[in-house]
Amino acid sequence: MRIGIVGAGQLGQMLGIAASDLGHECLFVDPSESPPATSVGRVIRKPFDDLDALGELAASCDVVTYEFENVPVDALLAITDRVPVYPPPEALRVAQDRLQEKRLFDHLDLPLSPYRAVDSLQQLQAAVAELGLPVVVKTRRFGYDGKGQIIILEQQQTESAWEKLGEHALIAEAWVPFDYEVSAIGVRNPAGDIAIWPLTENEHADGILRMSRAPVDDPGLFERASDYMHRLLLHLDYVGVLTLELFVADNLLLANEIAPRVHNSGHWTIEGAETSQFTSHLLAITGQVTGSTACAAYAGMVNLIGSIPERVTEFVARLPDSRACLHDYGKTPRPGRKLGHITVIADSRAECDKLLHQIVESVTQSTRR
Ligand code: AMP
Repeated sequence: MRIGIVGAGQLGQMLGIAASDLGHECLFVDPSESPPATSVGRVIRKPFDDLDALGELAASCDVVTYEFENVPVDALLAITDRVPVYPPPEALRVAQDRLQEKRLFDHLDLPLSPYRAVDSLQQLQAAVAELGLPVVVKTRRFGYDGKGQIIILEQQQTESAWEKLGEHALIAEAWVPFDYEVSAIGVRNPAGDIAIWPLTENEHADGILRMSRAPVDDPGLFERASDYMHRLLLHLDYVGVLTLELFVADNLLLANEIAPRVHNSGHWTIEGAETSQFTSHLLAITGQVTGSTACAAYAGMVNLIGSIPERVTEFVARLPDSRACLHDYGKTPRPGRKLGHITVIADSRAECDKLLHQIVESVTQSTRR
């Protein structure tokens, strides 16, 4: 089959590699100069909403998907009468607006941190008074990796937060003093079969994912997260991989946000699960039975951000038995840019944590130099 993919970043690249293993060909749309997926298929160098480019996907592909969340929904809707587009553009519409996302969680009775829509300084002041400090202010749209977010710790910071972000539609939400963060990654095919990978624990710094570990060894937590995931997948009549990011705080499991696509926190599934999120996404959108989501080992992932230090590459190469695998997306280094990741697999949690610790140390020392 030929798969059309809007976006040709590293997620597109990893989808392309999985597609080639399944015997599919990929055609991408992305305006960037030599994006990562160039290594796995032809890229139409046009904006994501270019109707000619999307028309070419519709005319020449069996199914179209996307790996980038800021694709204009109307552009996707313009081709749905010619080719199946999965995940459903409606899921993307919800995910693009934090207010709609929170309202969906409310509608589906998923627990979440209290929030308010904010369109004026007065509303922000009222939100701070009602929610209590700290409050996180976020742009409703186009925020990613912690961008477009400000934490208000003291009441007198309210005005300056408004000055910085007030030109956008905002939401304010109560700060969650979480114990840790997890993501639930699930997949559904058109026949309605659902599978969910073991939960992944995630560590962020400056709003960017730094490290993930799986599985989270807590069956009760998995059961609750699976229940949330089922509700979302069914409500959205979803096809493909869906990611739900959650906070674990005391006994609470609070929904934070969804991503209607394969996700950075699921990269460990390439080596660490019986079927990866990329393969499963492709199986789902091509109407196949998706594979087993069971963990093949204890797995962890470290993102390589800004640079891929030589000593880290050497460390990985020295490890025996493919216990660590470096994925280099082939991007030009730039501060804050995700350039690659390392997956670690091990027979025990302790061994996995030790390796992850060594890699993080090595990355930190190299970037300090
Ligand atoms: P988001 O873009 O909403 O995923 O936020 C990026 C990261 O900021 C999250 O993964 C958390 O680490 C942190 N964060 C966002 N919202 C909150 C909140 N209400 N309480 C605590 N931490 C938060």
